[in-house]
Amino acid sequence: MNGAAPAARVNVAIVGAGRRGTQMLRLLREIENVNVVGACDVNPRAPGLRIAEQMHVFTTEHYTELFQLPGLGLIVEVTDDPSLRGELSRTKPSAVELWGGRGAAIVLQLLEAKKRGEEQERLFVELQVAYDQIWKHQSELVSSKSKLEATNEELEVRLAETFFFHEFFKALTSYLDVGDVCNLIADGVNGMLGAEISCVYLLDASRKHLLLKGLQGRPKDALHESVDIATRGLLAEVVIGRKMLWDFDARVTERVNWAQTPDEIQSQVAAPLQIQNRILGVVCIASSVYREMSEAELSRFESISNMGSLALQNALFHAELERLSVTDRLTQLYNHGYFHQRLEEEMSRCQRFGHKLSLIMLDIDSFKDFNDTYGHPKGDLVLKVVAGIMRENMRDMDIAARYGGEEFCAVLPETDLAGAAVVAERIRRQVERQLFVGDGDLPSVRKTVSIGVATFPDNASVQSSLIEKADQALYRAKRAGKNQVGLAGGRANVRKDEPIGA
Ligand code: GH3
Ligand code: MG
Ligand code: MG
Repeated sequence: MNGAAPAARVNVAIVGAGRRGTQMLRLLREIENVNVVGACDVNPRAPGLRIAEQMHVFTTEHYTELFQLPGLGLIVEVTDDPSLRGELSRTKPSAVELWGGRGAAIVLQLLEAKKRGEEQERLFVELQVAYDQIWKHQSELVSSKSKLEATNEELEVRLAETFFFHEFFKALTSYLDVGDVCNLIADGVNGMLGAEISCVYLLDASRKHLLLKGLQGRPKDALHESVDIATRGLLAEVVIGRKMLWDFDARVTERVNWAQTPDEIQSQVAAPLQIQNRILGVVCIASSVYREMSEAELSRFESISNMGSLALQNALFHAELERLSVTDRLTQLYNHGYFHQRLEEEMSRCQRFGHKLSLIMLDIDSFKDFNDTYGHPKGDLVLKVVAGIMRENMRDMDIAARYGGEEFCAVLPETDLAGAAVVAERIRRQVERQLFVGDGDLPSVRKTVSIGVATFPDNASVQSSLIEKADQALYRAKRAGKNQVGLAGGRANVRKDEPIGA
């Protein structure tokens, strides 16, 4: 058997219903196995009696009446009257126990202590519950706070991204120069994706090569300036496949067909720059360490390349318009207006640096007759061929233009009269050797040109008189029998039978 046998119930009466009696009444009632069955006080208005009545406990002013209570087992006396205690002791039935005086005071104290303990325990439990709730709320708060922070962070990232895209697009559309746009695309991917290397290649006119036009993260000589798209490699594959491709682990170094030292590159991603399936070029980002890009990063990269493509097309249109505005349509040489503009610029540059500059004026001999005989289309062909021969004999810095009709001119910066005469004579000879195939009854024919050369500052110090001097030299060449080079400054013409270039 476990535990003690349950204690028998005790019926208790309290004598004395003042402060202590009242307290005793309350505390005893809370004790298991204790029945408060009666309360007594000589003062009928004692507070304990009122409370006892409310508790439906028998009350009386005469303690002897308590003795009648059935089953009474214990009288607790809490009065200050020692004589009453004596009387009670003497008169109570012998089966009824009596606690009084100090004993009853101790019992009261014990009961009060028990009550306080219970109260504390209750408070403790309440506190525990309250603490649990606070803790739960706190952890809910912490988790919603971190959720909020994460959302906030994401929002901030999105906002920064949107802002960057907006600024990037604004910058892109405000640039009209192809090189500037290419560099901006390289800058943009570099900034937005934190790329170690970013580069932009554009397809050349023959559409066989990619040419490096924009670069970030490496010096120019670390990359191939031109990439043949017939060779194997990521850039060529992007041009052919017209879609974004990547090697996160580029162990096959031939695929890195743009870097001078491909084995230094580990990850590369490239996207086409294209408008409606017409490839303009490729943008590529790469790193020397392994770098895998997330889907979000890849799609951002694609967005930048799409935006870049639009801006690039715009810049290419602009460049084409600019080119057309300075180009003669028939010969593809510069036109008259551009020639004047460049002559002025080059003259002032040569003046600043103390260099010479020569001007060549060329006129096709007896062209009117040729036109009359062979027709205008054939005449046009002659104009194109002569223009081609001029172009072939020019350095990068020279400016060849169609001056008008069947007259051409060329500005040769940093070239003296003798140097320009050599060039002029070479052109004259090359034209002279060119055979134009005849049509039907018309025989094949050769055409000749006459050329005048003048030099700044030797023959003239301003643009208009330099042109005039070259023109006069040309006129002298015509008068002396055509198909020769006339030099300004009264020097003898270069005859066709004279050795030149010596
Ligand atoms: P010269 O040897 O003295 O220069 O005689 P020329 O006949 O060449 O000179 P002229 O100035 O009398 O004639 C120039 C001719 O050039 C007249 C014109 O028919 C021709 N011409 C000018 N522009 C064009 C063009 O765009 N196409 C063609 N086919 N002919 C042109
Ligand atoms: Mg003429
Ligand atoms: Mg002529």
